[in-house]
This record gives sequence, C-alpha cells and structure tokens, in this order.
Amino acid sequence: MSFDFDLFVIGGGSGGVRAARVAAGDTGARVALAEMDRYGGTCVIRGCVPKKLMVFASTYAPMADEARAYGWQMERGAFSWTDFRAKLDTELDRLEGVYRRLLDNSGVTKFDARAVVRDAHTVELSTGETFTAKHILVATGGRPVRPDLPNAELGIVSDDIFHLDELPRRILIVGGGYIACEFACILNGLGVEVTQYYRGAQILRGFDDEARGLIAEQMTDDGVRLKLGTNIAEMRRATAAEIAGDVSAENAGMGLPPEARVQPSAGGDSGPGPVWVRSTKGEEEVFDLVFFATGRAPNTGDMGLEEAGVSLGRGGAVEVDAYSQTAVPSIYAIGDATDRVNLTPVAIREGMAFVETVFKGNPTPVDHELIPSAVFTQPEMGTVGLSEEAAREQEPIEVYSTSFKPMQTAFAGRPDRVMMKLIVSQASRKVLGCHIVAPDAGEMIQLAGVAVKMGATKEDFDRTVAVHPTMSEEIVTMKSPTRSS
Ligand code: NDP
Repeated sequence: MSFDFDLFVIGGGSGGVRAARVAAGDTGARVALAEMDRYGGTCVIRGCVPKKLMVFASTYAPMADEARAYGWQMERGAFSWTDFRAKLDTELDRLEGVYRRLLDNSGVTKFDARAVVRDAHTVELSTGETFTAKHILVATGGRPVRPDLPNAELGIVSDDIFHLDELPRRILIVGGGYIACEFACILNGLGVEVTQYYRGAQILRGFDDEARGLIAEQMTDDGVRLKLGTNIAEMRRATAAEIAGDVSAENAGMGLPPEARVQPSAGGDSGPGPVWVRSTKGEEEVFDLVFFATGRAPNTGDMGLEEAGVSLGRGGAVEVDAYSQTAVPSIYAIGDATDRVNLTPVAIREGMAFVETVFKGNPTPVDHELIPSAVFTQPEMGTVGLSEEAAREQEPIEVYSTSFKPMQTAFAGRPDRVMMKLIVSQASRKVLGCHIVAPDAGEMIQLAGVAVKMGATKEDFDRTVAVHPTMSEEIVTMKSPTRSS
C-alpha cells in the first residue's frame, strides 16, 4: 500500500518538531506535521521560555539593593510590564520563526491546521484535506486545567499570564506545584502582591521535604503570602464597593515604594478582573486576578484516537509501551500527551527514540530513570533522583546535608540560605539523590546529574577536589552524615 507520507506528526511542540525534522533530515522520510496554534508549543510559546525570561525580569529588583551593598550608587526603579511584554512578544515571534524554518530546512511539509485521526493510517485536517501515512505520531502536549468550582472561569491559567495588558496589583495563585510556585516568585519579584493558596500541608509535593521547607520559608520571607491547607471555597466577580474598599485599604499597607507599585487594574464584567474569594478557612478577600495553577491534562480529546483503537488512560493520557507505541501499531505518542514525565527534554528524548526505533531500525526504549530537573522558584531548586523520604522507604540510607548563607548575598546583608543534600545508599554507597536549593541550582544539578546518572558513590564525590570559592563546592566537602536510617 502506498501512503501520502511516511510519517504524519500531530503537534508542533518540542517533541513533535524534533521527531519530524530528524526523521525527514536524517532518514529522508516523507514527513508532514500539523499544528493548530503556534510552532514551538507549550515550552516555547507559553511555558518554559517566556517563564524563564520572566524569572530573569523578576530578579533585577533585589539586585539593585544588593548592588548598593557592594558600593554602587543605584536605586530600585519601576518595572514596565508593557516594555517587557513587547520585547517578549518579539522574541517569541523570532523563536516560532526558527521552529518553522527548522522544519522547512529538513523538508517537512507543514500544515497550519488541527488534525484528527480517522484510522490507523489516516489523518483529517480542519481544512478538510485527508492524508494517509505509514506512521502517525501524536505529540499534542497538554493544557492547563481549572478546578471544578463554580465561577472558575473568572480565573486565568498559565497560558493567559503572558498576554495580560497590565500586571495585577494583587493576585491569588491557587496550587502548590511547579507552575504555582514559580509564578508566585516571579510576580512577587515584579512588585505584585502575591497570595498563594495550597490545599496540602507543604508546597511542591513529591520533592525532598527539607528542600520544600526551605523554599516555602524563603518565599514567605520574600513577601509571598503563602497560605497552606487553604483552598477557594467560593468565588465570584467582586462588586464595585468591594473593589473600592480593598484598593483604599491596600494603598495604606502595601509597603512597596510608590515607584515600584503596580497600578490597580480596571474591573470588568467578563474575562480576567477583580474577584471576591472566600477561602476554606473562612477568609474573604478581593484580588485583581485569580490564577489557577492546578495541574495540566493531556490534549487528546476529540481527536478520534479511541475510535481508531488507541487506548487512553487516566485523564486522557495516550497509553504507550516503552517504545512510545500505542495499541495501534502504526500510531505512536510522545510528550505530555502520554503523561509520563512532563518535561520538554523528555519529550525530545521520546521523539528521538521514536525515530531511532521506527526509521533507523534500532529499537530504543526511553530511559525515564534519574532525570534531573529544576524548579525556577526564588531560590531555585535543582534535583535528581530520590528524595530523602522516598529513598528511606527503599533501603537504609545516609543523608549528607548542609545549609549556609552564600557569600554574595550574605555580604549584602540578606538572610538567604542555600541547601545542598546527598542521599547515599548504605549498601552500595551510590548517591541515590541530590537536592540543591540555591541561586542557579538548575545549572548545578545538570552537572551533578551526570555523576548521579553514572552511578557515582559518595566516595567519588569525596575524591573530587572543591572549586573554591563557590557555593557548589559544598557538594564535595560534606564529610559526616547528618543522619542515617
Ligand atoms: P502540578 O501537578 O505540579 O501541580 C498542580 C497543583 O495544583 C498541585 O499543588 C495540586 O495539589 C494542586 N491542585 C490540583 N487540583 C486542585 C484543585 N482542584 N484545587 C486546588 N488545588 C489543586 O501541575 P503544574 O500545573 O504546576 O505543572 C504541570 C507540569 O508541568 C508539572 O508536573 C511539570 O511536569 C511541568 N512543569 C515543569 C516545570 C519545570 O521543569 N521547571 C515548570 C512548569 C511546569 P496536590 O499537590 O494536593 O495534588
């Protein structure tokens, strides 16, 4: 049977674009890709990239204060969201162009259209066109979800944050995961008064407890009103009187220098705007904006997948084997659509392994073990391997940890602390987990991750000479265990 294409990729995010261009570029396969929105997907357009640029933007305010401690005559100025957003929009346009050109240069046929699967080898586009392909790759990613709560549509989600006309004066962020904590820190740094509700006992569930505790403590010290064990009980559009009362009360107590204050946003009957909230603890408050960072779900609805024989699991995740193959042998799925490890570099790995398996005759399962990652809170967390709690469940361990004031901020009189921690197997001496809470912890964990992935023992860390004076030297100078169990 002859097909229009060897491969039809649905979704132009990090995973889909990489698979398409490597299959076409390296193997000469005839490849098509359909994207219904913007090329680059969540990571480039409404996730990692704009988020990280906002992280950078948000760190300049304390830098001015620190610079003064180092002898610079420098005053903290006002932040212009309008100026930043214009520059951000231009950068995202540029990056989308790069993604489009990468596909063109690899000979991939692009369709700016939504695609659905009609059968094991057929894809139908929103343009009405139908194409056949020997293989179909579902790389449709995920989307943010709001909680099931009356009036939840009055709140925004992470996709919306990059499009705000102006920053709110007061925001409520709901959730305690990556997105909630990262944006709490970003917006706090940009001068927004941030309240964060998290329903559990401590933010960043699943990460090392000591690391979570330190991040929560520093976020609070930096001004985030973190309310644990708290959720929204009820929400509705705020009345004019509630907004007016709230604005005057706040002007008295905001504590920010006037030039750093963000102006109150105008109310509106629909879309983002002031919201009255009653918390599960009974507190009633008015916020200019409510931001739900309450998780993401795979983008697999209304795509004809189940009708074609593909099995969908919990939350709509495409069920795949270790080679990313679905129940239909010609259909594969990678990235957040499969809800395995929802990180861009993992989707890219899965895309490369798919090409290796299907187009290069080299069956390659995806290795999901010991993936280093970072949470871009302030301070950042870099982590690889097991948390102390998870490791202790597995086997007897030794814990080496240290917490100290880093030289740069301590000199400026700031109370910030950093933490470095190794979890070591008593039996094999291997480092099972490494957790760092520090400025640039994401950069540090990438390198520590190589050692941990190689199976380095505590003694391998000990044999490595410290780089002095740095923060990360502490990772090779922790001599005695803090505790063992
Ligand atoms: P997460 O799943 O990490 O966090 C969701 C949060 O929302 C949890 O704290 C959860 O609470 C809470 N929640 C869920 N439902 C409700 C509800 N109905 N009411 C109140 N709270 C609720 O999702 P995120 O959206 O933060 O991030 C999605 C994924 O994106 C991450 O898992 C990660 O893979 C990826 N990501 C990675 C980043 C990075 O690498 N730096 C950055 C951003 C995203 P509970 O803990 O109780 O379940």
